[in-house]
Amino acid sequence: MLDYLFKTKKPIETTQFGQLVARHLFPQSVIALSGDLGAGKTTFAGGVAQGLGIHEKIISPTFNIMRCYFHAKLPLFHIDAYRLESGNKELGLEEFIEGNGVTLIEWPQYISEIIPIDALNISIINLGDDLRQIHVQTNNPRFADLFAQLKEAFPW
Ligand code: ADP
Ligand code: MG
Repeated sequence: MLDYLFKTKKPIETTQFGQLVARHLFPQSVIALSGDLGAGKTTFAGGVAQGLGIHEKIISPTFNIMRCYFHAKLPLFHIDAYRLESGNKELGLEEFIEGNGVTLIEWPQYISEIIPIDALNISIINLGDDLRQIHVQTNNPRFADLFAQLKEAFPW
């Protein structure tokens, strides 16, 4: 099990964390991204998008459930499951998750039944002001390199 806990002290650091993660993604990788409103999920997602070479601005897909970005090193499927809490889960999202892009899922707890067990799990907690605690965890050994670099880039 790979597990790392660190803090960011300003938004740009969370963006940089996203950029670092992007360098270690591969086809079919899935990021399950948890955190309350205002935690920094979209800030992180923006860093991932930049790292994948996406120049569009990333916005929360809440009202669309999913936004796709194809002009990228790998296609990015950005899913926001918030509105699926009590609603229709038969949307065929598995097709994207199992496809050859990268899937980033906000509010993964609402579609936990389709989150792969080897996803990269990231949770962000707002500690107040600009401080965020970030917990990264996975049982997927393909992310070992990412964890090594995370410890170097964010040693606190
Ligand atoms: P979410 O998508 O989780 O609702 P956003 O990324 O949209 O959150 O918003 C996070 C807000 O918190 C932004 O206004 C951002 O500028 C601010 N912020 C302050 N410090 C940080 C930090 N260390 N990391 C990420 N965002 C931060
Ligand atoms: Mg958001």
